[in-house]
This record gives sequence, C-alpha cells and structure tokens, in this order.
Amino acid sequence: MHRSIVGFHQDLEQHWVAELDCGHCQHTRHEPPFFPRPWVITAAGRLAQIGQFLNCVLCDRQEIPTGYAPYRRTPLFANDSIPQGLRARHTITKGVWGKIYVQLGSLRYRIHDPYHTEIILVGGASPAENRDRQGIVLPEVEHEVEPLDNVEFFVEFWKKV
Ligand SMILES: [Zn+2]
Repeated sequence: MHRSIVGFHQDLEQHWVAELDCGHCQHTRHEPPFFPRPWVITAAGRLAQIGQFLNCVLCDRQEIPTGYAPYRRTPLFANDSIPQGLRARHTITKGVWGKIYVQLGSLRYRIHDPYHTEIILVGGASPAENRDRQGIVLPEVEHEVEPLDNVEFFVEFWKKV
C-alpha cells in the first residue's frame, strides 16, 4: 500500500534509505540507468520528496517493522466487554502496529481498504499453526472484529523503541 516518506538516512554502505510513516524503510538508491534518482543525492532533493508516496510491500506482507517492540496491551476482552469501537470500523494511529491474540473461541478480523481481507483468528492454536492467520493490525488501515462464538482476546500495541 502507499505510505508517505517522512525522512531519509544512509545505510552502512552509504546508500540512501527512505523512512516511511508506517515504520518501514525502503532503499532509494541513485543507480542509473535502471534506478535514476539524482534527487536523492542532495539535501534539497530529498527534502522535496518528504510527503511523497512509495508502495510499501512490507506493509502488504503485514510485517511489523524492525526496531518495533510491544509497549502496551488492552485488558482481556470477552464477548460482553468488547468495546463497541472495536466492532465498528476503526484505525490505529500512524506508526503504531497491533497484534490480536485470541485466547479462546474464534474472532473474525476484517481488514478494509486497501486489503479487503477477512481472517478467522482461532484461540488455542500454536503460534506455528496460527502463523498465516495472525491478527496483525496495520497503522491507519481500517479494520473491525466480530466474535463468532465465546471469545477471549487482547490487543498488543507495538511502536518504535
Ligand atoms: Zn510499510
């Protein structure tokens, strides 16, 4: 999905890397003739790119950015204590990622634009079994949850440390 550039840094080999508002980074090397990006060489050129969009495949893969760690979690929610806000379309804030842990029962996790996917998160599955259906919550992507039976789950929030 498209994420906006918030800054730049150089990697160990002095190649320029764009920092995106999702927390991911993306190389923006000047490598003519295939990747001509002469603007990346100058401070003014880089500054002019702040706010521009790049397609972030790491978001598409639902990978929590490296350097992120959990810093807060919600209480354990059961059917009668799920906040209404979680059942309706909502987002988490820029730069913050989430992980939904289902302890019991099953929970429908619906991700809206641009992904339009639905995952059934099942409690009790081992991490390996659950690998393909982890509830990864992307920053600023609308989503909602719906209990399919008696569920217990909590959400953990991750940010850059
Ligand atoms: Zn990203």
